[in-house]
Amino acid sequence: MALRQELAEKIRRTEPYVPGEQPQDKVIKLNTNENPYPPAPGVQEALRTMDADRFRLYPDPGAHMLTKALAGRYGVGEDQVFAGVGSDDVLAMCFLTFFTSGRPVLFPDITYSFYKVWAELYRIPYICPVLDQDFRLVREDYYRENGGIIFPNPNAPTAIYEDLGFVEDILSHNRDSVVIVDEAYIDFAGPSALELINKYDNLIVVQTFSKARSMAGMRIGYAISNPDLIRCLNDIKYSFNSYTMSQAAILCGTEAVKDEAYFQEGIRKIVETREWAKGELRKLGFLFPEAKANFIFARHPKYDAGELFEALKKNNIYVRHWNDGRIGQYLRITVGTEKEMKVLFDFLREYIMK
Ligand code: PMP
Repeated sequence: MALRQELAEKIRRTEPYVPGEQPQDKVIKLNTNENPYPPAPGVQEALRTMDADRFRLYPDPGAHMLTKALAGRYGVGEDQVFAGVGSDDVLAMCFLTFFTSGRPVLFPDITYSFYKVWAELYRIPYICPVLDQDFRLVREDYYRENGGIIFPNPNAPTAIYEDLGFVEDILSHNRDSVVIVDEAYIDFAGPSALELINKYDNLIVVQTFSKARSMAGMRIGYAISNPDLIRCLNDIKYSFNSYTMSQAAILCGTEAVKDEAYFQEGIRKIVETREWAKGELRKLGFLFPEAKANFIFARHPKYDAGELFEALKKNNIYVRHWNDGRIGQYLRITVGTEKEMKVLFDFLREYIMK
């Protein structure tokens, strides 16, 4: 039965974010930038020895065990760290907390598509400066008056990394705006804007456990900034849902942070596979911007990306494709294990030869 019009009109409507598919069958899954390797062994051990009796109690609303571990790892004060349920949760809280001036928030036209969804959800005006023809951000576009700025570094889905000189230029031109640098993929790229945290009081750096720490399913993300902005974030969080992170997530996240050697080795393996994969893609005639994340954003001048996407899927190889303007001829390919990538390249070789 259809809703009465009067009732229907009172409901908030929004166009939601569309996540990549999570097929339940065994496939080569290169479509959502997950890590193909398991989390640090200490995470498995923590889960094995976890006492379910703890679940009687609410978790620590401040997730202090985790924020303390992160503060130690990144050399900041504990009052400079805010943890949440994946960086999506942290970023959504940031939009709600900081983008309130009524002036338009700036983010690139080609970027993480959730930014637009949050802006619409919270009714925040926004302007999307157009990336240049090489998919690079144009710094001057961020010199105009604004109600805040957010961009990923490396950007998604392009995988392009901008150096800290670029980030600092945006920060210094926007001393009166909050600038959020979404560093979901930074561990595969280059120096983090965390280096600038004590220099710019308008900077928030957001990172995640979903990529380099192999824990997308545990949902852990965090923001690092100065104590004032972190306090503001916490006030909004406690006005929304105080117990966001589960006991299990707090514990497992803390264990992951302890194992620095495993973390570094995991990054090394992905970067090595990525660099080899770039060579293979080039041999097959693919073109792509310099990829610094755990994915490559590639197109083939002779083959339609939509058709190739479907052909791959039929063969149980999942990559990501957006039927969307300037990026419609690109495929975003997550870097999997070498073995997974070989299956992809075997398929592509055959597809291109035939
Ligand atoms: N930012 C960017 C740029 C992303 O690509 C993603 C992954 N979809 C996220 C944030 C959110 O990741 P998570 O919520 O798993 O931390």
